Amino acid sequence: MEINYPKGMKWTKQRKALYQILYEATEPLSALQLYALVQQKEQENYALSTIYRILAAFEEQNLVNKNAWMGEDTYCYELNRGGHTHYAVCLDCHKRIPLEHCPFAHLHLEEETEDFTITSHKIELYGYCKACKVQHTSDGKTP
Ligand SMILES: [Zn+2]
Ligand SMILES: [Zn+2]
Repeated sequence: MEINYPKGMKWTKQRKALYQILYEATEPLSALQLYALVQQKEQENYALSTIYRILAAFEEQNLVNKNAWMGEDTYCYELNRGGHTHYAVCLDCHKRIPLEHCPFAHLHLEEETEDFTITSHKIELYGYCKACKVQHTSDGKTP
């Protein structure tokens, strides 16, 4: 896969590998998940501290967004692709499903009011994914 690595950073092999994983990811990943993926991909042993260091460098360059999910103290990282994505989180399997559209788009939130300038927003939706919903309706209760 051909990736254009952003300028302003020295692209070591490790940084490239991590960037590529973030690039291909369809949902935000924690440092531990990235750590596992990068080792699997590169067939090499990385130090977890290396992953954190690279992520910090990415963050500094504004290449990634770092977010903690409600009720969790783990940070997840995703590539900063310019726009923004909201996710629906399944309460059962904790799968995160990206929403195609911003539910707030019609509200024109990124606007200026007299007292406040809104530059961004964040929402999380909770519920059950398709697979878990079936379980919930068939036995009527959570196991
Ligand atoms: Zn689910
Ligand atoms: Zn939005």
